[in-house]
Amino acid sequence: MIIIVRCWTCGKPIGHLYEEFTKRVEAGEDAGKVLTELGLERYCCRAAFLGHADMLPEITKFKKA
Ligand SMILES: [Zn+2]
Repeated sequence: MIIIVRCWTCGKPIGHLYEEFTKRVEAGEDAGKVLTELGLERYCCRAAFLGHADMLPEITKFKKA
């Protein structure tokens, strides 16, 4: 689904960083370095980004009517 707004564990707001994160990683940058530069130093926040799967394009194929 969509990225979480706040980290589940520590409560830090992280949702607004996801767009830049995906843009930079798709451009070929190292994911770990991007996370550090975005200010995500705790492993709970880093795990939320690295473990996230954007399923919205698949889910929106199944409309109700
Ligand atoms: Zn966190």
